[in-house]
Amino acid sequence: MAALIDTHLHLGRAEFDDDREAVQLRSQAAGVGAFIHVGFDGESIDHALALAQQDDSSWATAGIHPHDAASYDDAAEERLRSLANSGSIVAIGECGLDFFRDLSPRDVQEAAFRRQIALATEVALPMVFHVRDAYDDARRVLEDAGLPPRRGVFHAFAGDGEFARWAVDNGFRLGIGGPLTYKNSKLPQAIAGLPAESFVLETDAPWLPPQPWRGKRNEPAYVRETARVLAELLDVDIDALSDSLARTVEAVFAIKLPPEVWDVRPSTCPVPPRR
Ligand SMILES: [Zn+2]
Repeated sequence: MAALIDTHLHLGRAEFDDDREAVQLRSQAAGVGAFIHVGFDGESIDHALALAQQDDSSWATAGIHPHDAASYDDAAEERLRSLANSGSIVAIGECGLDFFRDLSPRDVQEAAFRRQIALATEVALPMVFHVRDAYDDARRVLEDAGLPPRRGVFHAFAGDGEFARWAVDNGFRLGIGGPLTYKNSKLPQAIAGLPAESFVLETDAPWLPPQPWRGKRNEPAYVRETARVLAELLDVDIDALSDSLARTVEAVFAIKLPPEVWDVRPSTCPVPPRR
């Protein structure tokens, strides 16, 4: 058994300025006991690094989001490189392609993505991918650039079954968040038949809350609900699932979860109140 792990959140954002500590306490109470804080631009990288300093069950990643791809210059890359080489981060990202919002020109997104794949290969870190309406292109770019040796996680995975199979067969993991719980979600079908080792859980807080909190701010405690739904799909109990997920997180990010994380039995933790 193990605590649940939120492998992708943005707790440094202003949405949490009034109650960040309470949010963290609520997540502990719900059995969510370890965190990967994801940085995606200069400021959010600062926040992720600061949060990772707080305790020994928190880590940081750093990358440049496709929305901000135009800001990926030599200085930005040098910062990521030095964070990687100093052991301050456990992954490069989130980075990738977002052809849904198209906030940066697509060729600029692809160029920044390619440079971060090359960097992840150079510094031997896994990647956290943000891909939206661009799964075919992401696969094309990855295959053309060469898969980063440490692979990584397709965060907020929303691809189809064929992509899911390709990703898992090639050693990537799928980041499963709140959308799994949505009534018309195609995700259950896309991931059907994949083993538990294919997945990590995440919130992407403050965004993408699970069904009971749709329209509200997401927070890490709500991983509990996504875990419940995933456990049902996999037909395992939540304690067995949490154990398997924790081992996957250790393997993907090459981290060691502290003993207290292994002492938590999520099934005995109260489900966060639905408000
Ligand atoms: Zn994110």
